[in-house]
Amino acid sequence: MILVKDFETASAMKPEELAGRILFAQRSGGKGDRRLTFAHALEPLRKAGVAAILSEGRAPNNLPTAHTGPLRADLVAPLPLLDIGHEDAEMLKRALEQGPVTVEVINTSPISGPKSVPNVVADVRGSTLPDEFIVVGAHLDAWDFGAGAQDNGSGAATVLEAARAIRALGRAPRRTIRFALWGGEEQGLLGSRAYVKAHEGELDRTVVMLNTDYGAGAPIGWTADGRPEVVTRFQPFAKAVLQGLGGAKLGDEIRCDTDHCPFWLAGVPTLNLDVDISKYDAIHHVAADTFDKVNPASLASGAALVAVTAFALADMPERLAPRLDHASVLAHAKEGEVYDSIVFEGLIAN
Ligand SMILES: [Zn+2]
Repeated sequence: MILVKDFETASAMKPEELAGRILFAQRSGGKGDRRLTFAHALEPLRKAGVAAILSEGRAPNNLPTAHTGPLRADLVAPLPLLDIGHEDAEMLKRALEQGPVTVEVINTSPISGPKSVPNVVADVRGSTLPDEFIVVGAHLDAWDFGAGAQDNGSGAATVLEAARAIRALGRAPRRTIRFALWGGEEQGLLGSRAYVKAHEGELDRTVVMLNTDYGAGAPIGWTADGRPEVVTRFQPFAKAVLQGLGGAKLGDEIRCDTDHCPFWLAGVPTLNLDVDISKYDAIHHVAADTFDKVNPASLASGAALVAVTAFALADMPERLAPRLDHASVLAHAKEGEVYDSIVFEGLIAN
């Protein structure tokens, strides 16, 4: 095993120094260009015949996590990349101070090659503008350390509950509401990306995409991803109706880390359900993401917020906001400092 400062440094080493070795380093993850640099470091390591990469976990108390998730399986495979517990990593470093260390890596996760995963889609057809769409989505897949109860069982349940409630009204809104459960989000927004590609012809008529993927904390409101005009337009409704549900706060912070991103990049207005995430880090992508941590009242409030918002936007006489062209979207992305993430996710070419 070789201890390296980071994988970028290792990628500059001679191939013969790397062949057959296990690399151990603190992963230089995080946001933006650091992730991009990391991604670019992987290819030379894989080509040099590195046996495996051990990435030091950052969670306390040796908690195993799946925070290697957004690291682009297509760039890593078939090179095994394993997160190891923080305390185990510290022990390895102490051992390395004493002399060479040999590590046996037993990787029990099979690498299967490409698999097909479905999106699950259902419509409540609009009464007078059935060819215009409100898309209400959440990803259906989850990491398997826990049950994926909040990431993203709660989001999927929210979408199903909104669909049930709107159907139960017995009255269709003006526009079609399309409920979607995406496959393959954790591997790189695969389901939502495939949808946007396959439905290119409908995007001019897609009025807004609502996304829920930040856990089942108490709802706060919506964020409009760098579109202040969406916030302005939506504000009167939020004040009048969402206040009573505890979710009237509107923001315009840009995020591109979940399934709204392919829609946003295509210029479609997006709204992300904003919830209290103060307890989310403790359960996100770890064994603790189980149903007992879900507060039923918060989950129900979030579902009510999504259902009411979806119906209102589908039934408005005017559209919420226009679709933006590609150049305007890229300008927004650069202002919002998400550009490197978007390149990293492979959503646009570098
Ligand atoms: Zn998620």
